[in-house]
Amino acid sequence: MLIVHELPFIYQLHELMARDPAAAQAEAAAQMATRADPVERLALRLLQAICHARLGNYVQAEYELTRALRQAKQRGMHYLVAEARDELAAICLMRGQIDAALRQWLDCFDAALQEDSRFGLVRAHLGIGKVLFALGKHDEAKEQHLRSVELSYALKDNSMNSAIHLCLAADYLKLAEFDRAYVALAIAEDNLAHSPYPDKHRSELLIYRSQIRAGRGEWHKAVNELDEAIRMATAGHYNWHHAFAELESGRVHFVLNRLATARSHLLIASSKAHSIASHLLEMQAEELLYSISKQEQRYEEALVHHRRYTELTLELIDNQNRHQIDPTTRRRLRRMESELALAQSEQENSSLMARLQSHEQHIQALKIEAETDPLTGVFNRRALEDRLQRELYTATQLSRPFSLLMLDIDHFKQVNDRFSHLTGDAVLKTVAELIQSCCRQDEFITRYGGEEFVILLPGAGADTARHIAERIRLKISHHDWFTLHPELLTLTISIGTAELQAGESTHDLLARADAHLYQAKAGGRNRTCC
Ligand code: GH3
Ligand code: MG
Ligand code: MG
Repeated sequence: MLIVHELPFIYQLHELMARDPAAAQAEAAAQMATRADPVERLALRLLQAICHARLGNYVQAEYELTRALRQAKQRGMHYLVAEARDELAAICLMRGQIDAALRQWLDCFDAALQEDSRFGLVRAHLGIGKVLFALGKHDEAKEQHLRSVELSYALKDNSMNSAIHLCLAADYLKLAEFDRAYVALAIAEDNLAHSPYPDKHRSELLIYRSQIRAGRGEWHKAVNELDEAIRMATAGHYNWHHAFAELESGRVHFVLNRLATARSHLLIASSKAHSIASHLLEMQAEELLYSISKQEQRYEEALVHHRRYTELTLELIDNQNRHQIDPTTRRRLRRMESELALAQSEQENSSLMARLQSHEQHIQALKIEAETDPLTGVFNRRALEDRLQRELYTATQLSRPFSLLMLDIDHFKQVNDRFSHLTGDAVLKTVAELIQSCCRQDEFITRYGGEEFVILLPGAGADTARHIAERIRLKISHHDWFTLHPELLTLTISIGTAELQAGESTHDLLARADAHLYQAKAGGRNRTCC
């Protein structure tokens, strides 16, 4: 069976399209004049249609895609059918035409199954996941996206892999599984290095990463990432990405109370979203614009934005009613699952399972690697930021006490200087082990810096925290350090503790523990200050 991507000139045009769709379109038109082979001509027509979509001319794109689709069907060229349906579905989804999008992707799935095209199957699962995502069914969306990860293993298509992992990251973000979102973004980024669509995907990646940053209160990093995303999306004419990045930028500046900057981002977001008929993005931008105008007491403007917001909300509800998934499409979705099971041999199924497992292990390994300090095996500072935020939230919600310890080895520089850096490393490892032996499972130990550790103590008030600190301090000072080096006779640590106070931020809590640690050092070391 012919795989059109194997026609070298089409492949090159696809790469050109990723960089410069206008140039690819002109080149395709020029090629059209010189080629007589019907398959080649059809592939060129399809490519021209996709270029229209990339340039934001969706009406034209839809028309050309439908034409190309009809011809591909007549000739039984399932691969092109699947590709055209995939593109059409994406346009429908962008317009909020949920049912139409889902039907296209199910048809894409059928076409791919007939051709036995794994590429098409991956696209279908990816797309169906996007539909479920748009319906707010983030768990089911994730299942579809994981299925496409599983099927895409053999393809070794970096561009596809980065697209899938970006979708997964979006699912995880919606499910508030930030660690997983982080890992999915890392895999997407890994694949991006070899993708022909680096800027398109990278702008999306930056938007999601900025959402993680914003969630952690790292507003300035979020702003920088969004600026970069806007730059890339503008240069590449990625209208949807552009609107999305402007919206998020508006949101962040709004939180930072930079109302004028927020407004200018949101106005662009709204008009971009309008130009591509993305009601959802436009609605969110108008809602924020309304809040800003109201806050600035520009009531007339506020009224205009509120009217537009209401209009869009009604339209969206109307659209959702009209485009809800009808029962026939829903039944097809269920049938798809069984068709897929039938299409795959038992053996293939088990090899897919094995790949899925290895993928999960890979994700797990990446996650552990990203959060572990390689020398001591305890968590690192990155993991601490996440965990501290979560612990603070839980403690506040449950009105439960929470404390942390900040611990620093005394005169550690002398250990390095007198006995070698290797001995210093062995001391660090042993200190980490001794701390672990004094802590419970739910007490979170991190290496905060060179010879500093931070320990989170959920449920512990100031008294308990001091007890635990003293237990650790004594354990370390009583340890037989000469087993590491015959001349290393004593080693001590100083500790600062802090119990969470109402309304305190993670930053303030750490700063208080640090101040107490400084007191312990100034007071002669080998002590705990509370
Ligand atoms: P103080 O009692 O005031 O804390 O004195 P100190 O010597 O412990 O503190 P200082 O901050 O001056 O020195 C810390 C030293 O820790 C300096 C640095 O070389 C060492 N260090 C940081 N990371 C590592 C590491 O991974 N391995 C080893 N062996 N040494 C490290
Ligand atoms: Mg020290
Ligand atoms: Mg230190």
